[in-house]
Amino acid sequence: MFEFFKKRFRKSVDKFSEEVEKEAEKEIKKEKPKKVKKPKEKEIKEKKAEKKKEERKETKEEKEKIKKEVEKKEEVKDIEQEKITEEKEPEEEEAEEKKKGFVSKFREKISTISLNEDKFEELFWELEVALLENNVAVEVVEKIKNDLKKELTEKRILRKNIEKTIERTLKESINELFEQESFDLVKKIKEKNKSNEPYIIAMIGVNGSGKTTTLAKMARMLQKEKLSVVLAASDTFRAASIEQLQKHADRLKVKMIKHDYGSDAAAVAYDAIEHARSKNIDVVLIDTAGRLHSNKNLMQELKKVINVSKPDLKLFVGESITGNDCVEQAKIFNEMVGIDAIILAKADIDEKGGAAVSISYVVKKPILYIGTGQEYDDLEEFKPEIIMENLGL
Ligand code: GDP
Repeated sequence: MFEFFKKRFRKSVDKFSEEVEKEAEKEIKKEKPKKVKKPKEKEIKEKKAEKKKEERKETKEEKEKIKKEVEKKEEVKDIEQEKITEEKEPEEEEAEEKKKGFVSKFREKISTISLNEDKFEELFWELEVALLENNVAVEVVEKIKNDLKKELTEKRILRKNIEKTIERTLKESINELFEQESFDLVKKIKEKNKSNEPYIIAMIGVNGSGKTTTLAKMARMLQKEKLSVVLAASDTFRAASIEQLQKHADRLKVKMIKHDYGSDAAAVAYDAIEHARSKNIDVVLIDTAGRLHSNKNLMQELKKVINVSKPDLKLFVGESITGNDCVEQAKIFNEMVGIDAIILAKADIDEKGGAAVSISYVVKKPILYIGTGQEYDDLEEFKPEIIMENLGL
């Protein structure tokens, strides 16, 4: 899973880190320590000596003037003057302060780096191409780019941590893409069943995405949870779709409600729900005809199925390998009927993983499961850690 992404992305991340480190090296060379000029040190010494001389002169004159005055007073004055000469000159203190500030600033500069935005854009380009090549949606590339830019241009990072910082930022940024409200399907079904009502799931998506197979995998998963299931063959449009679903129903030993091809798909869904109510069945799984937004009649029919069956869960089934197309379809179905969650079928044969990385962030809905093969048990609960691991992060 996602092998191509893993290799291509890793190569680009390493190259990016290397380039940023090279920039840091260049900066070190530019910033080579100039001899720290001891500011005004000589002048201060001279000034100090001059002052002392003058003071001595003054003292001498004064002494002569008050020669005849009381000896005790004279002594006191001497002591006071000595104290004055011992105290540090304000200019000297200032110079020392400056020296200290300069050294620590210099030290900070040679051990940290902050890229300017133009340089960042230039270096990020390679990484951007790698993400786009792997079908990562443009808005997701922008998010990752902005997160990394913030870290590398707005903050000073320690040179020795450049690689670590880039890795950490990318990991956090990609992890955030999956932050959607968690969804415990089995718990939700059991809650609805408490009111003696079946939980209704409508499977939607385009033809060939793996919708019918995924529906059968869901039925198997629910059976394992000791939940009873009925199927609704509401794809009355595509030739052989009813027979295909019937095969699954037979293998799984579950009831399927069907009408004839070309009949009202909403009526099939209605009958399946009525059947579930009368037989106390926990879940109704509705198969719908795969359609494209350009097919207005089918879209109208899908809306009717949704209006009549009022599903608790509208599940979009997308084909992971189609990358950006899959994300676009999810967007369109979401606008048309409002999807609640996503299943990504065929993740096992997807080398790139762009759809898995992008779809939740773009549509703002959680991925519930991923399809990992053609068998009934090849349905895995979606976990961001698994995706991250497969991406090599
Ligand atoms: P539908 O037209 O959307 O109902 O798609 P189908 O359920 O008929 O699936 C189309 C093809 O994709 C079939 O050959 C399935 O076996 C295959 N398929 C479905 N899900 C997966 C999956 O997760 N992994 C793999 N490798 N193949 C799958």
